[in-house]
Amino acid sequence: MRQTVIAGNWKMNKTPSETRLLLNEFKELLKNSKSKIIICVPTISLKDACEIAKDTNINIGAQNVYFEERGAFTGETSPEMLDDIGVKYVIIGHSERRKFFGDTDDTVNKKVIKAIEHGITPIICCGETLSQREKGVAINWVRKQIKIAYKDVTKEQAVNTIIAYEPIWAIGTGKVATSEQAQEVCHTIRKCLAFLYDEETAEKISILYGGSVTKSSIGEIVSQADIDGGLVGGASLTSEFAEIVNIADN
Ligand code: PEP
Repeated sequence: MRQTVIAGNWKMNKTPSETRLLLNEFKELLKNSKSKIIICVPTISLKDACEIAKDTNINIGAQNVYFEERGAFTGETSPEMLDDIGVKYVIIGHSERRKFFGDTDDTVNKKVIKAIEHGITPIICCGETLSQREKGVAINWVRKQIKIAYKDVTKEQAVNTIIAYEPIWAIGTGKVATSEQAQEVCHTIRKCLAFLYDEETAEKISILYGGSVTKSSIGEIVSQADIDGGLVGGASLTSEFAEIVNIADN
């Protein structure tokens, strides 16, 4: 049985002081939660966040990582740096990184491999645009993204990864995919993992849905057979996040 995972993506929100306040609030609100909780904070707050979350049930994640170990890569953060301060999760290939910062399926694959090498669990994002959905190519697109993301990842490594299916048209727009739409793609992703590895491996990998998740939509989303939780953007910035976790728990 896969554990429900609720991950928050704070994007470029919350200063370090605001981060400390909100995480301390979450620590209290979430202390009895059964779901796995991951909060992905801005890079500048990672160290503080890891210290606040130490010995709690909150895991801290980064929102990006580079695929080289060190060197002349101004502004980037290496997996070793994340590992050194205790970061155990990292979002890779979020659609905003693909759109604004040039991430591609190939760089996503390189980042996934590097994160795994350093014992950091990648949360691998995939998802189609509205025009791809309207043209009926969403399923094939996501399947291609998954195949490239997992290139040269062994099955022993794959079981320690998380996938987030995030239809781009649903991110930050208030338009949630219907639970049938989300389940259909997440089921395809699981089938794709079974094709790349085997059924047993595919059954072990958590697949989350992301895209305007709120306390009103999470219940139906996590009740779908192939959806194991949510990647939550906007609604992870307030105490609504604790309500989302609470609903997902039950
Ligand atoms: C996200 O940032 O991954 C996301 C899904 O955002 P939102 O929940 O705001 O749509």
